[in-house]
Amino acid sequence: MNLEKFRPALYLSSAYKVDYEALWREGIRGILFDIDNTLFPYYVPHATNEAKALIDKLKKMGFKVGILSNGRSERVQLLKQEFGMEGVSRAAKPLRFGAFRMKKTLGLPASQIALIGDQIFMDVLCANRMGFKSILTVPIDPVNDEKSVMKRRGAERKIISRLNLYPEDLQEAGNSDEDKAIPRKAD
Ligand SMILES: [Mg+2]
Repeated sequence: MNLEKFRPALYLSSAYKVDYEALWREGIRGILFDIDNTLFPYYVPHATNEAKALIDKLKKMGFKVGILSNGRSERVQLLKQEFGMEGVSRAAKPLRFGAFRMKKTLGLPASQIALIGDQIFMDVLCANRMGFKSILTVPIDPVNDEKSVMKRRGAERKIISRLNLYPEDLQEAGNSDEDKAIPRKAD
């Protein structure tokens, strides 16, 4: 199997550790966010202050931002209001229809859009298929994830290890704690 379609352009420990100034300098103008386990865990019903501060900062920098979530529409609808940004729910990533909708909403070419998410089989594959910059982050709370997501984590860990991926910001910090890089399923 060709694994390159799963390779993220960037792999970081958190969406809050992305160097957004660097993204801007390289020409990225739109950022799409996965929500669950990327900005906060799926069981957190409201936008956190940390996530709101990040989105506000990005808007002030001039980025167009949006949500691309496979989550329920009620949840995404509420978060759209709380963040004051557009979004698509039930996007069925890695399928592209939701991503196409958000690309149109942002009004940007694919080459100027980054998609940040915690799942290789959903977020990274979708971004790579679209020609977006794919940014993979370590899931915030992998041991309390939804059952359907937990099932895929083992396979994701295999791909991450076969692609020889390690979060770049942890590498720089000289941190070799593998458990942080490759989330393990709770036994
Ligand atoms: Mg997610």
